[in-house]
Amino acid sequence: MEFKIIAEYFDRLEKISSRLQLTSLLADLFKKTDKNVIDKVVYLIQGKLWPDFLGMPELGIGEKFLIRALSIATSVSDDEIEKMYKSVGDLGQVAFDIKQKQQSASILAFLGAQKASKPLTVEKVYDDLTKVATSTGEGSRDIKIRLLAGLLKDASPLEAKYLVRFVDGRLRVGIGDATILDALAITFGGGQNFRPIVERAYNLRADLGNIAKILANGGIEQLKNIKPQPGIPIRPMLAERLSDPAEMLSKVGNLALVDYKYDGERGQIHKAGDKIFIFSRRLENITNQYPDVAEYISKYVKGNEFIVEGEIIPVDPETGEMRPFQELMHRKRKSDIHEAIKEYPVNVFLFDLMYYEGEDYTVKPLSERRKKLESIVEDNDYVHIATHIITDNVEKLKEFFYQAISEGAEGVMVKSLAPDAIYQAGSRGWLWIKFKRDYQSEMADTVDLVMVGAFHGKGRKGGKYSSFLMAAYNPDKDVFETVCKVASGFTDAELDDLQKKIAELKRDSPHPRVVSTMVPDVWLTPALVAEIIGAEITISPLHTCCKDQYAEGGLSIRFPRFIRWRPDKSPEDATTNREILEMYKSQLKKIEEKPSDQNV
Ligand code: ATP
Repeated sequence: MEFKIIAEYFDRLEKISSRLQLTSLLADLFKKTDKNVIDKVVYLIQGKLWPDFLGMPELGIGEKFLIRALSIATSVSDDEIEKMYKSVGDLGQVAFDIKQKQQSASILAFLGAQKASKPLTVEKVYDDLTKVATSTGEGSRDIKIRLLAGLLKDASPLEAKYLVRFVDGRLRVGIGDATILDALAITFGGGQNFRPIVERAYNLRADLGNIAKILANGGIEQLKNIKPQPGIPIRPMLAERLSDPAEMLSKVGNLALVDYKYDGERGQIHKAGDKIFIFSRRLENITNQYPDVAEYISKYVKGNEFIVEGEIIPVDPETGEMRPFQELMHRKRKSDIHEAIKEYPVNVFLFDLMYYEGEDYTVKPLSERRKKLESIVEDNDYVHIATHIITDNVEKLKEFFYQAISEGAEGVMVKSLAPDAIYQAGSRGWLWIKFKRDYQSEMADTVDLVMVGAFHGKGRKGGKYSSFLMAAYNPDKDVFETVCKVASGFTDAELDDLQKKIAELKRDSPHPRVVSTMVPDVWLTPALVAEIIGAEITISPLHTCCKDQYAEGGLSIRFPRFIRWRPDKSPEDATTNREILEMYKSQLKKIEEKPSDQNV
C-alpha cells in the first residue's frame, strides 16, 4: 500500500474537527487499506508504531537529529533548516516547503525527465521506523539518521511533512480510540449499529490494530466470537461508589461477595506458556517492575494460559502484614530492582479470573470465576485470594468493613453474585461497589502503648514472635484496652532482644487487667511500653479501647509502627483511652473540614 494514501488522508483529517466527518473520512481510508497492513495504519493514525502495552521503545528522535536527517535528504544545510524552522514553527511544514521547492525546480530543469524515486509504501515506512525505534548501542544514532534520511529522500512533499510530524510526535490528526471504533464498525459492519460488537471486542483486547486486523480478515462475525488473548490487556472492570451499606446490598441484588479493598497497585497478570505479562490499571506493561510477582504467579497459579487480576501490596518482610501503598513508590524509585524486591517485598491478592486455558471467563458469573480462581491458586505465602465473605446482611457487611480497615485495607468491594454478574470489561457499573474511607491523615502525634500479647511470625520468620498486641490505659477502670497489632519498625536486634523479654513476661491466660477480644499466641504481663505512630485512628470491632463510645467497635490505629521503647514509663503512664478518643475526634474534625464528599 502506498504511503501517499496515508499522507493524503492525514492532510484531509487535519482540516476537520467534526466527529462525524472524521469518522466517515476514516472509514473511507480503512476501505482503501490493504488487509495485511490495516493494524499498522491504525497505529500510525494513533501516532504510534505499536500499542503502549507492549512496552516497546518509542521513536525517541530529538529535533536536532531530525534536522540532520532532513539536511542529508535534501542537501539543505542544518543551519538553513533551523532558520526556516524558527520562522515557520513546524518542522513538518519546513520539510514540505523544501521538498516542494526542490520538486518544482527539478521539474522545470528536466521537464519531468528525471528518474522518479520509488514510491514509498506503508510497509517500508513502518519497517524503517521500527528499525529507528529499536536500534540501540554504539553507532545507533547514525543508523537512525541514515534511515530517516533515506525515507525523507524518497518522500513527496506531503509524505515528508507527515513523516516528520509523526517522528516528532506532532501529528495533528485528533483522532481518539472512540472515533476509530466508530469507523471500524462502519467499514466492516456496515453501520454504527455494529459499534457495540466492536467495542466489546476492544474491551477484551485493548489493541485497536488487532481488532482492525480481525475485522478486515474475518469480518464482524469473527469479531463476535473474540476471546481475551494472553499478552493483550483487557480493559478493567470498574466499580461504582456508594456510602450506605444497605443501599449497596440492595443495588447488587442483596447477596454479595465482599472483598477486602486492598490499597496497592492493580495488576492484570497474564500467562502465555512460559511468559508472564503484568499490566497496570492504565494497561501499561509493568512486568519489569515486578519480576518477583511474575515468578510467584508462574510458581503458584496452576495453568498454562490464563488471565487473572489482583492487587499488588507491599508487605512487611518479617510478618507478611500489609504495609502502606507509598512503599510501592519507594520501590519504584530504586534503580536496582533486586535490591528493591528485597527491601520492599510484595504479595498479590487475587480477586478475579478472566481467561483460563482457552475459555473466556469474562462472560461467566462472579461465583463461577471465583470458584475457578480458588481452585488454581496453590497454598503459599505470596499469592492469595482476596479476603472475603459472602453475605446479605448489612451488619455483617459493616463489621467486615471495619475489620478490613483495621487490617490495613482501604475498605471493601461489594460485588454482585447475581447469575448475570459477568466481568464487565472496560465499564463502570453497579456489579461492583466500592465502600472505602477516602481520606488520609497522618496521626498528629505518637502514642505510648503497653504490650499485652504476642503473635508468631509467618513464613521466613516462623517461630519468632514478630507482631504484638498493644493497649492503652483506662484509668477509670484501671485496665488496659487494646488498640492495635504492631509488626513493623523493629530492627532485627530489637526483635531478638524482645524474644528474651517475652520469655520472662509470658503467661497462659490474659492478664486480669487486659481487656481484649483478640487472642494472641501468647499473653504477656503488661510491663513494656513502646512509642507507636500510625496512619490514622479508625473504628474497629477487633479492639476494645473506648468500645463503649461507638456501636461499631473500639478505636484502633491503622498501620502502626514501633518507634522506640519507653523504659522511663510504667504501664500506667501509657497513653489513656481518653487521649486516644480525643485524638480520634480531632482527626474527624479535620476530615469534616476538608472539602470531600467521600468520607465514610
Ligand atoms: P477506579 O478504578 O474505580 O476508577 P480508582 O482508580 O480511584 O477508581 P479506587 O476508587 O481506589 O480506584 O477503586 C478501584 C480499585 O480498587 C481497583 O482499580 C483496584 O485496583 C482496587 N482493588 C483493591 N481490592 C480490590 C478487590 N478486591 N476487587 C476489585 N478491585 C480492588
